[in-house]
Amino acid sequence: MESLHLLFATSEVFPLIKTGGLADVSGALPAALARLGVDATLLLPAYAAVLDSAGSLQQIARLDLPQHGDVRLLQGRLPDGLPLLLVDHAGYYQRAGNPYLGADGHDWPDNALRFGLLSQMAAWLAGEQSPLPRRPDVLHCNDWQTALAPAYLHFYDRAHAATVMTIHNLAYQGVFPPTVLGALNLPQESFHLEGLEFHGMLSFLKAGLVYSDRITTVSPSYAREIQQEPLGFGLQGLLRHRRDVLTGILNGIDTEEWNPAADTRLWATYDAANLAGKARNKEALQQTMGLAIEANSPLLAVVSRIAPQKGLDVVADALPQLIQMGFQFVLLGSGERALERRLRDLTHAHPGRAAVHIGYDETLSHRIEAGADVFLMPSRFEPCGLNQMYSQRYGTLPVVAPTGGLLDTVTDATAARLASREATGFVLERLDAGALRSTLARVNELYRNKEAWLRMQRAAMGRDFGWAARAEEYLALYRNLLARQ
Ligand code: ADP
Repeated sequence: MESLHLLFATSEVFPLIKTGGLADVSGALPAALARLGVDATLLLPAYAAVLDSAGSLQQIARLDLPQHGDVRLLQGRLPDGLPLLLVDHAGYYQRAGNPYLGADGHDWPDNALRFGLLSQMAAWLAGEQSPLPRRPDVLHCNDWQTALAPAYLHFYDRAHAATVMTIHNLAYQGVFPPTVLGALNLPQESFHLEGLEFHGMLSFLKAGLVYSDRITTVSPSYAREIQQEPLGFGLQGLLRHRRDVLTGILNGIDTEEWNPAADTRLWATYDAANLAGKARNKEALQQTMGLAIEANSPLLAVVSRIAPQKGLDVVADALPQLIQMGFQFVLLGSGERALERRLRDLTHAHPGRAAVHIGYDETLSHRIEAGADVFLMPSRFEPCGLNQMYSQRYGTLPVVAPTGGLLDTVTDATAARLASREATGFVLERLDAGALRSTLARVNELYRNKEAWLRMQRAAMGRDFGWAARAEEYLALYRNLLARQ
């Protein structure tokens, strides 16, 4: 069979630029598809950080677009060898800091243009006028930043790639005043209720959901949840209308990057057969974070964006009592200033028992996964979530809220699942400080039963969260889509 040409359009990719889970997926899924024989190319903005780290680049096209000015298309390779295309626009992408936010924590004011251009370039590459030696068979768009591409193809192109739109997080939709329509070179006729309009505004994500051939999201539970209030965030009606083309495919994790048996970032490596190295990581983590060095105090951890979605206010509510119950606590994260401050103040009030590190730190995130006993993920919603999978792989049992991908990837320690040795974590009954405390009382009890705990750790570490099986699901979806065209 002839190989399938895939263009994977995204606004972040590990290891070049990362703010969250989308980067991990973009770094791993196209590579896993390539291992299945797919001819996969990534499309990404040429952010300053990317230009610095992308290695040698070649200009393959240059355009002068009336709305955007001078745009260049650069070609290179990702560190793992996958072909990479970069949209280079000095004014849009070459600025310090986060891809989406300025130093003041607010969205860049020209985000509509920045990601409108990314979408338009994706559509160009996937359309009739594609400058690529072979036009892609499938254009795979990810989140709102690339979601206008199916609309450009719908309105301006007759023969173009099949389109897949993946929702990594429906809470971010890219909604802008309708005045950007002209600047984005979209026709007035696209701006209506069954098109790009969303309550009088222009919605990037809605464009992708309306005009793409297939919609996917990153877990089966989230695919169900977004068809209802409140997690549909206003798009539940549209998603219900398109449910025949909507599927949930779980994310995998990069099992090489996240492998406790070979992770060079750790103080000591370990595997399911011998967890001695995990105890050494715990001791080193306690020391680094200024916690009392106590092998037998259960250590709770959080690595997360500090955003309302992640439910860390509930952790803050419960923290004094958790510490009273004998838990230690570490948190690595950054985001909302007020909650950062609250968490920092709380931990200062409990020296030796709790510590926070505000910031983004890849190495520390691995060390925390290895050194902690329990990982907290009390998300209000979670499309898939990665950390609960990393945690299981590192023998750190997750405590999760009953939502989205967390439900699909963690097996609750019920009596039956403990007996059948399938239990790998703990699912809260509901999300509040009371439920968190009562579940952690259960955790505490099991933690004291060393044999039962070890059994759960081994079950968790034995789970296959790799991308291979997930990539097969995407490939089947692409093939099915192409067969119907
Ligand atoms: P989301 O994409 O909603 O932020 P996920 O659990 O899907 O949540 O992915 C989060 C990713 O970002 C994980 O790889 C996690 O380790 C990483 N991460 C989040 N905050 C930090 C941080 N402060 N330092 C290091 N890694 C972080």
